[in-house]
Amino acid sequence: ILYDLFLIVDFVTLSDMFHVMILLRLGVFTPIILSIVILSYYFKPSGFILESSLIVGGVVGVALGTIAMFYSECSYRLNYQYGSLLVMMFSTIVSRLRFRFAVAGLVSMLVIQLTTTYVSGAFDAETYLGIVMFFATACVLITLTTYYLEHGERRSFLFALRGQLLREQIEASARTDPLTGLFNRRHLAQTGDKIWQSAVDLPRAVSVILLDIDHFKAFNDSQGHIAGDSCLRTVSRCISEVAEEGHGLTFRFGGDEMLGLLPGAGLAEAMLTAESMRRGIENAAIPHPKVDGFVTASIGVASGIAPETDIASLIAAADRALYAAKHAGRNRVMAEAGRAAAGEVDIQAAA
Ligand code: GH3
Ligand code: MG
Repeated sequence: ILYDLFLIVDFVTLSDMFHVMILLRLGVFTPIILSIVILSYYFKPSGFILESSLIVGGVVGVALGTIAMFYSECSYRLNYQYGSLLVMMFSTIVSRLRFRFAVAGLVSMLVIQLTTTYVSGAFDAETYLGIVMFFATACVLITLTTYYLEHGERRSFLFALRGQLLREQIEASARTDPLTGLFNRRHLAQTGDKIWQSAVDLPRAVSVILLDIDHFKAFNDSQGHIAGDSCLRTVSRCISEVAEEGHGLTFRFGGDEMLGLLPGAGLAEAMLTAESMRRGIENAAIPHPKVDGFVTASIGVASGIAPETDIASLIAAADRALYAAKHAGRNRVMAEAGRAAAGEVDIQAAA
């Protein structure tokens, strides 16, 4: 619109070329710019194509003005070279061309500008030198502006990205136990809430597996705290690998106690998973000199239907089963009292 508004100036100052200017502005420049706008809106071209098109638009804009200046006989025609500056600014700064595209565009426009003013022969050497200095300086300043604009834009992008990554990192560490890499209790509460909320519309089975390492205090006392930590990490890895296979989640419940949460799993499936965890720990073969063997764990399992049962009751039931497993001799999986006894689970078959 701004470019075409200069038809008013054309009418007043370029009377011998006015009909040509109507054709160039409305018939050549405007369709080119409109095509770029429409194509970029509907076809979302790559940055390279879009920015190259903008350069073409800018070059055409400069060329049309200089053609008018070149062929007109009117005394005002020489003012037309200053229009090129506006086109240069629009096609680079306003269009937010990236630095290297802006350089390519400005060099092309500058060459056209200086060549046509030179070839027109309308200026003496001193005036021409002034014109060269004026346009060359303008191009340098515009180039610097596009550089700083792009630089600022890239920095803001990186700052925003850094902020986002930091937030993700903080959120991840807020739900993770730093020693074992398992989720922490805070995340257990959040996950429980989510599962129970979604179960309001669609009731589903949920199982809890509660695991406690056998004679871990003795392991710690004899092997040292660092070895104890390393044992906790190995046990955690064993159980999280098994849980992930069944889309379950594992949490550090506290000390040497870990909790597996299996949404969608009934008691039989949970018992199988728990037994795989128990066997995985045994197979990790972490020497436990105080028991003349390897580190083992006792496991209690409880299942229920959400939202009928709440997570606290499930954990309490799994805890009772764990207690029973400890008392039954450790290194075993037991279900909550009553369920397994009723024959719903055959742990031998599971094993
Ligand atoms: P039980 O078979 O009855 O479970 O016997 P236990 O010795 O394992 O008894 P308990 O589960 O009560 O022992 C927990 C021990 O876990 C006590 C403490 O020394 C150890 N512990 C708790 N947290 C950590 C930890 O972050 N790192 C290490 N290395 N040890 C821990
Ligand atoms: Mg223990």
